[in-house]
Amino acid sequence: MKYLSEYRNLEATKFYLSKLEEIVTQPWQIMEICGGQTHSLVKNGILELLPKQVQMIHGPGCPVCVTPLNQIDKAIALLKKGVIVCSFGDMIRVPGTHKSLLQAKADGGDLRVLYSPLEAVKIAKENPTKEVVFFAIGFETTAPANALSVLHAEKERLNNFSILVSHVLVPPAMEAILDDEFCSINAFLAAGHVCAIMGYYEYPPIAKKHNIPIIITGFEPLDLVQGIYMAVLQLENNKAEVENQYSRVVKKEGNKTAIDIINKVFKVAPREWRGIGLIPDSGYAIQEEYLKYDADSKFNLHGFKLEEIPNTCIAGDILKGIKKPFDCKDFGKSCKPATPIGAPMVSSEGACAAYYHFTNTSI
Ligand code: SF4
Repeated sequence: MKYLSEYRNLEATKFYLSKLEEIVTQPWQIMEICGGQTHSLVKNGILELLPKQVQMIHGPGCPVCVTPLNQIDKAIALLKKGVIVCSFGDMIRVPGTHKSLLQAKADGGDLRVLYSPLEAVKIAKENPTKEVVFFAIGFETTAPANALSVLHAEKERLNNFSILVSHVLVPPAMEAILDDEFCSINAFLAAGHVCAIMGYYEYPPIAKKHNIPIIITGFEPLDLVQGIYMAVLQLENNKAEVENQYSRVVKKEGNKTAIDIINKVFKVAPREWRGIGLIPDSGYAIQEEYLKYDADSKFNLHGFKLEEIPNTCIAGDILKGIKKPFDCKDFGKSCKPATPIGAPMVSSEGACAAYYHFTNTSI
């Protein structure tokens, strides 16, 4: 398959691994932003194949993992009110303050698991006497489709459709990680799919301000090894530039049509990140013009306070790259994919779940 099999090519991947061995002279810590990249690194055994000086730090790039508990609590409250709540499948097992969406469904809530927010618009059209809310989580990648659902609802003149917005944005999170006093990251592999939508014009100021290389990187084994090689080559040559490894997909200016749709419906707003806290300008909120499609406003959900459960979960430190899943005393014991304590064990893109499924643990 074009653009897939070539990037799973073992010989080409080995070639870049050997080049990496040749150039690395000192320890470097590189953060891959996206959970999909973490999953691929762990699943393909790349972490074990890297030179011992190169350590990968797993970033906060799993939207399920960073969605705060109170957003889940809001969706559960809507289910209790008799609202049809629609969600992507990976969100439904994540524990809220007291229960998950799946448990709320077992209690009689009308929860629908969908692949697209446009399906939720169709459900609203078919159920004119019911309110329908789509749980709109994700990074910039899912924002165009979620914005489009609002535009479709407007076109269909639907008054019973709204979205519960929980979008998070990558560049402000990168800045927040770099500003952390314990940050020890030397380079970033930026998330290729986010840049496919948004481009990467936002990254040069970050690279310059923090003197850090940023490599826009894909998700296949060769993408990742090549991205790591490009990062180490810069570091060894004392450079801090933005480079695009994923040029077969990503253009600097991004996808203008998608960006226009996002900007029509959403505006940038502060956002809470589970395990990290409030990051200014790191999320989306609905523009005034479309507030009738904002579930927070429509159902007066703003009062749901964020009450993170005090427990031993160190997800926040893992999402900031300060600790690894193995550092958690519950990892693989009381916290497993079937009985998750924290979000990184629930989502298939979460670092804890990736380590659980694909590493040899002595548990
Ligand atoms: S293993 Fe479970 S409890 Fe530990 S950090 Fe990961 S999600 Fe949290």
